Amino acid sequence: MRIGFGYDVHRLVEGRELWLCGVKIEHTLGLLGHSDADVAIHALCDALLGAACLRDIGHHFPDTDPRYKGIDSRKLLHQVMAMLGERGYRLGNCDITICAERPKINPHIPAMQQQLARCMDCDVSQVSIKATTTERLGFVGREQGIAAHAVALIENAV
Ligand code: MG
Repeated sequence: MRIGFGYDVHRLVEGRELWLCGVKIEHTLGLLGHSDADVAIHALCDALLGAACLRDIGHHFPDTDPRYKGIDSRKLLHQVMAMLGERGYRLGNCDITICAERPKINPHIPAMQQQLARCMDCDVSQVSIKATTTERLGFVGREQGIAAHAVALIENAV
């Protein structure tokens, strides 16, 4: 077994869609980024890559590459899982924490789990997603951005 950790932040701005764990959430603000800026999937990708000692998401999918402009981050996650699969790893479980003051994340968690489980070809019970505010403290509390933390455990597929 191997374990990895990931962390990501994206800025909240007007005029962008808000995508978290592959689910589009209705909100007045969205996350800014080269891709769809799904901060939770990015943290998860980094946790998975970290577990396999395969650098980070920016190394594999640079934000200077036009191929990744506006890309659905589920495609990046799918590619990360393929990289792990090529090296003989499969997912044990993962656990994501999304830090956001608004909107409310909790009602969307079952749909998010389904999206990620489908993308990683695993059971929803292997995909834990949690949400917290930061009690109005810091950039998350001021609604300037959303942060996500993730840990992932991978194991040999054989
Ligand atoms: Mg990112």
